[in-house]
Amino acid sequence: MISPTGTGGFKSATDRWRGLTRVLVSKARKSIKRGSALAAAAGWGLGAVMAGAAEEPEIVSRSGWDALEARPYADQVPERFTIHHSAVQLDPDADYAGHLRNIQVWGMGAARNWSDIPYHFILDPEGVVYEGRHPGTKGESNTDYEIEAHLQINLMGDFNEHPVPEKQFEALVAFLAWCSGEFEIAPETIRAHRDFAPTACPGEHLYEYVKSGVLREAVEASIAKEN
Ligand SMILES: [Zn+2]
Repeated sequence: MISPTGTGGFKSATDRWRGLTRVLVSKARKSIKRGSALAAAAGWGLGAVMAGAAEEPEIVSRSGWDALEARPYADQVPERFTIHHSAVQLDPDADYAGHLRNIQVWGMGAARNWSDIPYHFILDPEGVVYEGRHPGTKGESNTDYEIEAHLQINLMGDFNEHPVPEKQFEALVAFLAWCSGEFEIAPETIRAHRDFAPTACPGEHLYEYVKSGVLREAVEASIAKEN
């Protein structure tokens, strides 16, 4: 549940849903195009979309990590989950929000000139979720693949060298379960960056959970428990 933290770091559910309306409306339109009467009927009411959904996680809003304003971007409707790692191992007492800002500043700088931080959501080693670029905007990448419709989720850490902290993995499962209902994306679509492009991302240890289906099964179990 969303709870006021007194830091101003968390958005209210109302603010977030306002941001997501565009995505949901385009999803509903798509459903109509596909001739799914049921999805179309359900898609227009947030209440209906949310029915039976997993518990909403706390998400640190962009203002909570002092994000730069995004530049104009290309729209998308998210239809699949793609998992990344930051490839940087941080100390337990590191400034995670500061690290996030560095990723954004680097990506929007001369080297890449991206419109925003490349990921839609980021999880720190403690399992805290941060709001990245708007889910209704196409991601951006160092590697070459058809990036449209991917919901890009990044875990802070270097999982080529280190195991995924239990807390972070559990938060990822809960977050994906919520996302699955929120964006109407099936857990079967969970893949890793390296499934689409030549890269080590998201690191061997995290990739193992994706490849083996352990992550998908955990998300499905979490959704089943909520319903
Ligand atoms: Zn990646």
